[in-house]
Amino acid sequence: MTHKARKRFGQNFLQDLAVIERLLAALRLQPTDAVVEVGPGLGALTLPLLSRLEHLTVIEIDRDLIARLEALRDDSLTIISGDVMQFDFSALATRLSGTQSSAHSLRVVGNLPYNIGTPLLIRLLDSHEAIRDVHVMLQKEVVDRLHASPGTRAFGRLSVLIQSVFDVQPLFTVAAEAFRPAPKIQSAVVRLTPLENAPDPCAMEALQACTRLAFANKRKTLRNNLKGHLDENALRELQIDPQARAETLDLSAFHRMAAKLG
Ligand code: SAM
Repeated sequence: MTHKARKRFGQNFLQDLAVIERLLAALRLQPTDAVVEVGPGLGALTLPLLSRLEHLTVIEIDRDLIARLEALRDDSLTIISGDVMQFDFSALATRLSGTQSSAHSLRVVGNLPYNIGTPLLIRLLDSHEAIRDVHVMLQKEVVDRLHASPGTRAFGRLSVLIQSVFDVQPLFTVAAEAFRPAPKIQSAVVRLTPLENAPDPCAMEALQACTRLAFANKRKTLRNNLKGHLDENALRELQIDPQARAETLDLSAFHRMAAKLG
């Protein structure tokens, strides 16, 4: 039975076995790992994952694809039907860990649909305490933004938020021909590992608000973007030049501004 790829669900199915093997090798799986795959699709990653794990959880939105997975009748596969954007990763970590600690236990894997890649990563910020690591395929341009340094073109709000919580390790790029249908852009696989000293939820909320303001208009100086929230003197007290643009600041400057605003 053939499946017609649905654009609205960002369906570009992996077909290059070498890419699949490379991603699996990067995971260095142990059979007892608590792995959740986002968007199993036709199973390009799911089946090899299942063969290496005692148990696998997958989250899929497309009912036709869910029916195919159900037809596998595999007891070691838990299929969650629904939108990953509504999914509670911390609750899953607790469920999978049983009597053991769920802290930093969950391994998140997926060839993410392009339309939800960035918002999903932002959502994962709230669950970082439950996460051991994240290995995902994204647009290469997004991976560049995740990993960007201050002062470079790709550095922005996403870089600040993700780098405040995760160590970001780009692993390899993947050509469009590795997928069917082939997307118009290059992809890349990235590994995110939670930092030990990630900000607490309150500090994270303040950082979200602060970066929203600071990057509101990329052409404007901090003084202008932060008008009504932090004045020039407050910025100088934080050792930050009010005439600077947000994209030139390092992470610690954002954390100082967030602490002052929060
Ligand atoms: N893992 C498969 C592969 O590598 O060939 C499929 C990857 S495809 C890029 C993305 C998958 O995510 C599709 O199966 C799609 O139906 C699913 N998906 C899209 N939006 C979703 C959402 N909001 N929640 C859960 N799954 C979603």
